[in-house]
Amino acid sequence: MLMQVDKKHNTIQPIIEPSKPLLEVNGLKKHFSVRNPLGRLEATVKAVNNVSFQLHEGQTYGLVGESGCGKSTTGRTLLRLIEPTEGEAIFQGRDIFKLRKDEFQKIRQDMQMVFQDPYSSLNPRKRIGHTLEEPLKIHGIGKKSERVDLVMDILEKVGLRMEHFYRYPHEFSGGQRQRIGLARALIVNPKLVICDEPVSALDVSIQSQIINLLRRLQEELKLTYLFIAHDISVVRHISDRIGVMYLGQMVEDAPTDSLISNPLHPYTQALLSAVPIAKPNFQRERIILKGEIPSPMNPPSGCIFHTRCPKAMKICKTDFPIIKEVAPDHFVGCHLY
Ligand code: SF4
Repeated sequence: MLMQVDKKHNTIQPIIEPSKPLLEVNGLKKHFSVRNPLGRLEATVKAVNNVSFQLHEGQTYGLVGESGCGKSTTGRTLLRLIEPTEGEAIFQGRDIFKLRKDEFQKIRQDMQMVFQDPYSSLNPRKRIGHTLEEPLKIHGIGKKSERVDLVMDILEKVGLRMEHFYRYPHEFSGGQRQRIGLARALIVNPKLVICDEPVSALDVSIQSQIINLLRRLQEELKLTYLFIAHDISVVRHISDRIGVMYLGQMVEDAPTDSLISNPLHPYTQALLSAVPIAKPNFQRERIILKGEIPSPMNPPSGCIFHTRCPKAMKICKTDFPIIKEVAPDHFVGCHLY
């Protein structure tokens, strides 16, 4: 084990190497073509535009931003539910965008997704046990009797009971359905789980139960999460690192503590100003953003946030701010820095 001198405490400490990225996304773009009835190209929607981030093993990367900012499209593109326009996604050393469909299918077992509304993806006529068996059949895992045991096991892990095996989707509450969604993702023993707004449709008390469950399962099963949500107050509770997206682009990327205590981008500052603080004598100034999010079909020139930014300067209308490291491990794309 490599050691180093800790001058502050005058001791020798082991060097803890950062875990290697399980997923590395570089320059991801997803553009949609809008065509008129004659098939002529009318416009291009830049839903995701040049997004890069790294996801480390056993950690959670939170992707946050208003609805329509491209965070869900990013998640879906990584699972190739929609094909990317450009960029690479290195998962366990291989660029998954370059894999043939049959090659990607083998990796797909290691990458699963949890959706916002599991009810719409559950067959109302199938008992839950049989729905949970399906991914095992698809990936050729276990014989019939073994598959039933695996389903019973995962039901218990997500906080459901064995008798739930025989019930139908309509017999469950919203929180229980999300547990089923989680069970369906985890039953094939994945490494990476992409959680797309997994608690947005739930009551606040149920939200915290599901977040606690996700954290417990992460520890138990050594899972890595990409956690996508519009609510930064939820994302901060589960993420080791947060990426803030606006209009298809990453505007800030930092470890959670650094981003929450010292948000640098005016958009992140506005998102955080809406989060209530549990200190009775502390009042944070609420930043109300003016105007609507511009259309991704016709994004503003220069900094894409300049039409709503309370700190916009002349340069912001013309020059695109490149993302750079302005504090240790804290990246932001803004002309203020
Ligand atoms: Fe605001 Fe200018 Fe920074 Fe964009 S570059 S966030 S408009 S200050």
